[in-house]
Amino acid sequence: MSLWKAYYLPQTIDEALSLLAQHHGAARIIAGGTDLMIDLQFTDRAEPLDAMVDVTQVREMLDITTVDDVCHLGAAVTHTTIVKSALLEARVTCLVESCGVVGGPQVRNVGTLGGNVAHALPAGDGTTSLVALDAEGYVAWSDGRREWLPLPALFKGPGISALDHHRDVLVAFRFKLCGEREGTAFKRIMRPQGVALPILGCAVWVQLNEARTHYDDVRICVSPVAPKPVRATEVEAALRGQPVGQDAIERAVRVARDTLHPRASAYRATAEYRQHMIETLLRQTLPLAAQRAKTGEAHAEGVGMG
Ligand SMILES: Cc1cc2nc3c(=O)[nH]c(=O)nc-3n(C[C@H](O)[C@H](O)[C@H](O)COP(=O)(O)OP(=O)(O)OC[C@H]3O[C@@H](n4cnc5c(N)ncnc54)[C@H](O)[C@@H]3O)c2cc1C
Repeated sequence: MSLWKAYYLPQTIDEALSLLAQHHGAARIIAGGTDLMIDLQFTDRAEPLDAMVDVTQVREMLDITTVDDVCHLGAAVTHTTIVKSALLEARVTCLVESCGVVGGPQVRNVGTLGGNVAHALPAGDGTTSLVALDAEGYVAWSDGRREWLPLPALFKGPGISALDHHRDVLVAFRFKLCGEREGTAFKRIMRPQGVALPILGCAVWVQLNEARTHYDDVRICVSPVAPKPVRATEVEAALRGQPVGQDAIERAVRVARDTLHPRASAYRATAEYRQHMIETLLRQTLPLAAQRAKTGEAHAEGVGMG
């Protein structure tokens, strides 16, 4: 049985919304299809979907633009395009590092950052970095409202998005690019073989003081440790004002041990192993982000190693 009856390629957001509205919830948004096609193939349906509304030709969703150091990134931009952007590598290195480990090259060539967020898994690699970047998502709701929302507001639970994938379109993201004294890093623990779920990912953003000796501000997202992607706010607070160095990292690790509690997962790893790996990831990402903030030089690591 075919999975859908009609396939549309709208060129504008209004056209996409209008097509979705015409089908009264019986059409589905598709971007790269790397998550959706698997879901559809494993869902028993008596009837094919009425229609697919493919958003990968909507101009507004493909742009990468910068205004006053704020980057606007279309939701239909692919992981490969993000990885190839010299601007993003230099100014939001963690995003390039996270998109660079999604699947293999075939998945990255078509899979989009918007699809990663809309699929709503707290372990989404692109999602983890967007949360550490304090990004917002721009949503065109089916009732005509358009608004910017903080990334976590787009999530209701594991695999449950605040968006109705039959009606609402995630259009774009925006986040501040790193300036002087700011740096980011992302690392992930993953089984090396086959189609496996990430065991744990960690993205950090740091801002150092004028002398570049102390942490002025820090944002950290470790995932998945909760049903929705969340910031490690207690760990962040423990680092603010601390001198950059091993003592601060050990302080962060102690607070992480007390406040971050990943679940045991049959598909990922035991809770004890994941707890231990949080510490490993903090020990890797914090010095790397601080080094990038100090020197202003950042080259993405691990890209293509998914
Ligand atoms: C072999 C394989 C390996 C993978 N490895 C990883 C990995 O290492 N890390 C990782 O994070 N992910 C991984 N994924 C998952 C997937 O590739 C990513 O989540 C990808 O970013 C999804 O984007 P997409 O464009 O393909 O989304 P799609 O599959 O097209 O859509 C996903 C969901 O979001 C909805 N949707 C898509 N775009 C929008 C939009 N703009 N507005 C509203 N709703 C929308 C769709 O209706 C659907 O429900 C892997 C997948 C495969 C098949």
